[in-house]
Amino acid sequence: MATEYAANRHYWLPIPGAGDIGGTRHAFRGLRWEGQSSGSTVCGQEVAMAKPSEMDWCLFPTCQLCNGILVAEQRPDDRREGA
Ligand SMILES: [Zn+2]
Repeated sequence: MATEYAANRHYWLPIPGAGDIGGTRHAFRGLRWEGQSSGSTVCGQEVAMAKPSEMDWCLFPTCQLCNGILVAEQRPDDRREGA
C-alpha cells in the first residue's frame, strides 16, 4: 500500500495544554506541520496545533506513547534487513 511509505514519515510538534507541565511534544504522521489548526497524534489524540515557541521545544517533554509506537514500527524493518 502507498500509505506504508507515508507511515514511516513523522515529525514532532509541541502541543500546549496536553500535559501536566503545560504541554507535550507529540509525533504526527507526515513530513512536517503545514499550518493546520488540528491533527491526530501518533498516540491517537486529536489535538489543536499552533506554531510552537522556542520555549515550548525546550520545556515540553517528549510523548512516550508516540515515541514507543514509532520505535516499535521501526523494528520490523530492522528484522527484514537482517533476514
Ligand atoms: Zn503522543
